[in-house]
Amino acid sequence: MIESTPRIASAREVVEELRRRSAFVMVSHVKPDGDTLGAGLALGLALKRLGKRVIYYQQDGVPRNLRFLPEADLVTATLPADLPADTLYVFCDMSDWRRAGDRLPAVDRENMLDIDHHLGNSLFGKLNFVLETECSTGTVVMHLLRELGVPVDGKIATCILATIMTDTGGFMHSNTTPDALELSADLMRRGADKEEITEEIFLRKRVAATKLLGRIVDAMQFGHGGRYCYSHVDDAMLAATGADGEDTEDVVNTLRGQEGVDVAALFKAIDGEIRVSLRSNGRLNVQAAAQRLGGGGHFRAAGLTYLGALDEAIAAVDAALVAEGL
Ligand code: 5GP
Ligand code: MN
Repeated sequence: MIESTPRIASAREVVEELRRRSAFVMVSHVKPDGDTLGAGLALGLALKRLGKRVIYYQQDGVPRNLRFLPEADLVTATLPADLPADTLYVFCDMSDWRRAGDRLPAVDRENMLDIDHHLGNSLFGKLNFVLETECSTGTVVMHLLRELGVPVDGKIATCILATIMTDTGGFMHSNTTPDALELSADLMRRGADKEEITEEIFLRKRVAATKLLGRIVDAMQFGHGGRYCYSHVDDAMLAATGADGEDTEDVVNTLRGQEGVDVAALFKAIDGEIRVSLRSNGRLNVQAAAQRLGGGGHFRAAGLTYLGALDEAIAAVDAALVAEGL
């Protein structure tokens, strides 16, 4: 494994820390996806096998399409009052702890473990297990499960496979390496339910979501000689279709998939804030563009929150993309 900076902990160091602690809070990022949740659930299940106490913390709750994940019904936005002093907060799939949201009580750095695969992770933990070459945070967790020696059962395997399929877009994105496919095959042999993951995360759509997709597609705009496609969704469009924010999650990929498009952006002006999702076909680094505006992510998939009006957000993102070579 290539370590991206000298300050990345080894799997052994992390496992020693895990063995020392008695209780864990698995923290996932706001607007959670299958990677942040699946990675935390998989490691949580393994830690429970070792007799540890595990809480799954998530500020926004579990989206409808991820409720099938093992233990998802235990995910909570409220921490128990009796957590011991040695509790370790395990942040999965976030380049900075602030992505956990504004309602997580203050945690000492000494009690933070950072497990991630994003570019530009701020290495905020006491230990930082950040492997940028891994396709998902779940596959980063796999390194820890091997070191822990906990057997991977069907539940853990389903959680890890869900992280891989989420972050590879169902084995379509460029991070679908031979290693990722071999690990996925192994997870299926151990009982991972690929059919359920496919159906729940990728195939089944609410009718309201499909109607919303139609509106977003109607509002598509093209720029920079057709290489840039963007659109928006707002509260009125949600109200008109009966959809909600969860129904917007993978729409940006439709924009990116239009013929001739290198980069796509979806502006989500919902509940008084503007969330921007960026996708690239690999010519341009959208993580760098997002970082210019306080966001982050990966080379081909990134996001940010813009404070201001929709037309300003559209102009600011355009400028950031141009600065990165659009
Ligand atoms: P999405 O567009 O699906 O919300 O996010 C795409 C990728 O960018 C994900 O890896 C996500 O974690 C990351 N990302 C999205 N929004 C932000 C943000 O505001 N800050 C950072 N650091 N990363 C983000
Ligand atoms: Mn991820």
